Amino acid sequence: MSTGEFPITRTTTPKEKPADDTLSFGKVLTDHMFLMNYDAGRGWHSPRIEPYGPLSLDPATTVLHYGQAIFDGLKAFRGPDGRIRLFRAQRHAERFNRSAGLMCMPELPVDLIRRSFEALVGVEHDWVPRKPGTSLYLRPTIIATDVFLGVHPADSYLYFLILSPVGSYYKEGVKPVRILASDQHVRAVRGGTGEAKTAANYAQSLAGQRDAAAAGYTQVLYLDGVHRKYLDEVGTMNIMVRIGDEVITPPLAGTILDGVTRASALQLMRDWGLTVSERPITIDEVMAAGRNGTLKEMWGTGTAAVVSPVGTLGYKGEDILINGGQTGELTQKLYDTITGIQYGRSNDPHGWTSEVAVD
Ligand SMILES: *Cc1c(COP(=O)(O)O)cnc(C)c1O
Repeated sequence: MSTGEFPITRTTTPKEKPADDTLSFGKVLTDHMFLMNYDAGRGWHSPRIEPYGPLSLDPATTVLHYGQAIFDGLKAFRGPDGRIRLFRAQRHAERFNRSAGLMCMPELPVDLIRRSFEALVGVEHDWVPRKPGTSLYLRPTIIATDVFLGVHPADSYLYFLILSPVGSYYKEGVKPVRILASDQHVRAVRGGTGEAKTAANYAQSLAGQRDAAAAGYTQVLYLDGVHRKYLDEVGTMNIMVRIGDEVITPPLAGTILDGVTRASALQLMRDWGLTVSERPITIDEVMAAGRNGTLKEMWGTGTAAVVSPVGTLGYKGEDILINGGQTGELTQKLYDTITGIQYGRSNDPHGWTSEVAVD
């Protein structure tokens, strides 16, 4: 997609790009951002690319008080062939639109959102790092911009897209983590905002994360808010378990974020002929399988890490070691296959990647 379709103001003070092997997550932002406004009666208007910089907001701007904000997160990858590909850009743009609807925001121009990804990455193509395992992270966001202290869905919004070159999540190979199934903290309940990628879900996840870290675990495994027994999500990732020959993940039934990595992993495992169930699963079933040796693997899925194997699962004072604390065979195969498609090293049978035209 040509970047020429959007007005662009180029920076006069380009930043120095950090060396690829110094990159971590989200600390370095690129030179430009994509902006677009919404006003009731006018719709979405004024898409444009501008130099990256601070936003100026009135202190009474509604998002700062009531959190009417959504975001998404996806990546662009530079392949060994030098080409830049986005992974499942259309699906991310469609999910962004669903998040908007759930948070009482106006319908998004999904195609324009997707083109904003392509246009900005095209302008910033030199910021897509080259070292294997690195990528360019895209963070589209919408905030409510009414200046008013009343609680209501806003009449005006700002869409912004910013980009950050990120390092390899696994610098020394895929590494299992310790997770704690919490009987204290809840992530989402049906009828709430769990299905939306919204700022509020992250704000309310901080206390659970803090308590898990204090207890010596990396992440929280959330259980459902009503019965406190069904698996929900792990940290900000979707959760999958392999018990015997069945792979199980909780269904999209009102509390769970419809992860793009989740959908991709499910598709691949079905392609491979595995038995995959989207069904409710209790922590007691997982712990029992852990004790009797049928719990083979457990992992989280998300854009940042692709897969995150669980080496230890803690619940009510008991720790279960999974696969000897090592990355399981299926977890590793999913990681290798998905990253192979993302970097254009393997073929892409479902057409998940789209190449970005550079300036
Ligand atoms: C973003 C997110 C995920 C992962 O989604 P991906 O599309 O795979 O990156 C899972 N759970 C929550 C709560 C999230 O916010």
